[in-house]
Amino acid sequence: MNAEYDLIVVGSGAGALVAAIRAAELGLKPVVIEKAELVGGTSATSGGGIWIPCNHDMPRAGVKDDLRTAFRYLKNCAKGLASDERVLAYVETAKNMARWLDSIGVKYRSMARYADYYPHIDGSLPGGRTMDPVDFNARKLGHEALETLRPTCPGQLIFGRMQMNAFEARTILARERKAKLVIMWIMLRYMIDYPWRKKSNRDRRLCGGQAMMGSLYAALRRRQVPLMRGTALRSLLVEDGRVVGVVAQQGEREITLRAAKAVVLAAGGFERNQQMREQYLPQPTDQTWTATPPECNTGDAIRAGQAVGGALHLMAHSWGAPTLFVPKEEKYRTLFIERSLPGCLVVNARGERFVNESCPYPEFQQAMYAEHERMGGAIPAWIVFDAEFRRKYPIGPLAPGEAVPDSRLRKSWLNVVYWKDDTLAGLAAQIGVDAAGLAASVAKMNDYAKSGVDADYGRGGNVFDRYYGDDHVQPNPNLAPIGTAPFYAIRLWPGEIGTKGGLLTDIDARVLDEQGRVIEGLYCVGNNSASVMGPSYAGAGSTLGPAMTFAWRAAAHMAGQPIALQHRELLGTAG
Ligand code: FAD
Repeated sequence: MNAEYDLIVVGSGAGALVAAIRAAELGLKPVVIEKAELVGGTSATSGGGIWIPCNHDMPRAGVKDDLRTAFRYLKNCAKGLASDERVLAYVETAKNMARWLDSIGVKYRSMARYADYYPHIDGSLPGGRTMDPVDFNARKLGHEALETLRPTCPGQLIFGRMQMNAFEARTILARERKAKLVIMWIMLRYMIDYPWRKKSNRDRRLCGGQAMMGSLYAALRRRQVPLMRGTALRSLLVEDGRVVGVVAQQGEREITLRAAKAVVLAAGGFERNQQMREQYLPQPTDQTWTATPPECNTGDAIRAGQAVGGALHLMAHSWGAPTLFVPKEEKYRTLFIERSLPGCLVVNARGERFVNESCPYPEFQQAMYAEHERMGGAIPAWIVFDAEFRRKYPIGPLAPGEAVPDSRLRKSWLNVVYWKDDTLAGLAAQIGVDAAGLAASVAKMNDYAKSGVDADYGRGGNVFDRYYGDDHVQPNPNLAPIGTAPFYAIRLWPGEIGTKGGLLTDIDARVLDEQGRVIEGLYCVGNNSASVMGPSYAGAGSTLGPAMTFAWRAAAHMAGQPIALQHRELLGTAG
């Protein structure tokens, strides 16, 4: 066959670049095509965390793990919606993929205190499996390439400019003793980096998803893998039952690219496609609620795979997270952490709590839907806090009041981003929430803050909740009274950080048809494919870890070096 490339990788998120880099390393000739003008997709705007059981940095972090326990945990999480083979393939391969990342300059460290998301599920660990990217110096990428890397979200920047990593974010949010020093250090570092700022407005120190994608992008460029920006997959070319290339759109021009070995679909989920959201996701749903970049992930490659016979799986599921609207920002912001801090609660239109505010973000979004279906009034929901909370903690785009008082907040944010009133009853009237219900919920919360026990939802009752608590607040770092006027509210939507349903794949990321047969020449990874996590979110990094791991397996497979399962004896067992 007359093909210029061995493989065509569609998309330029984390999974896509791992597939291309690894394939190049194994002697294949890849090309990456990306619909947007910017590289990196949602991956570049993410925290960059990866969930890697038994990872190489656990001993340094003082955490122990073993394959059997990790398999048991993930199998329990997946609830039968991902095959044992895929779960095992993930658990066995993720740690090797993470070591390989390290070897190509994509550095990670284990987060010893960041717990798995289901502490009550057998096999979970109180920390260590989530890995956070080590900061990356953008000089290694070059300032011109940096300009083509999709920037991060405003929520991950200090004063809209300076990047912070997950450890620093925790220190600042939880008001650890060294918080002020950390902020000063981040600012000072940025200010004195004058030579770099002459070249670029963007911080040279890349953290989180920027560090992950910056270092992957640098590795791709070192291997001189071509990357075509502004090139959108339209359809797949099939000959004799095998996928042999793609038809893509480049501006006004339609081009055909042929691949000698395979096409890897890594073009994200369908969160920006309103029609698909209405067809598959729980209702109500709106593409504006998502925290992923506009116009990127419109499910094109899911539809293209389906058109050549690919089976779809898990289409009703998303990587849920509550989100909020901020004018002039291109996408909604996630509220990952702040709702866990003491002195706030979340209510429905009746003013009632319906969820543990500190729970992991996917559970929180699912609780919004469950409550809305049960009684109505939970979409949107409202996070309510008082002046003391406002003074001490950041929330959404509001920096702590002690640094940026209300008088210095943008005027246009009042009654759009946040609502404010001198009394709880007045606030309730403004936001259309039942005042008596809200008063009762606040009174209960104030009792729980005293006793340290949230008798309704157990907030602060486990290691996950407490990670984003304020250790100065006792007896429960997640609970504080709400009583100091004025009172505030912010509106929350059931958004997500990606959808998780897509093309069904096997252990090597090959796409399967409705009969479970492999579609030759077609691989799929990341949110383009159905997740190995089933309906769950095992721990922070559950989307990127699998995207990269299955991309790594796919590259090995197409290079003729498939990775065999080592512990087949675990298949069909409880682990
Ligand atoms: P993407 O990274 O979105 O890449 C898909 C790419 O495909 C895009 O660039 C898109 O433009 C391109 N594309 C789409 N259609 C076409 C087409 N037709 N032709 C060519 N290209 C196309 N997950 C974690 O695991 N850990 C975290 O710490 C984490 N933090 C997050 C923080 C935030 C604020 C957000 C928003 C998300 C976070 N996530 C995290 C989720 C994670 O970022 C996504 O699930 C992940 O990036 C999806 O990767 P992907 O490669 O499937 O898609």
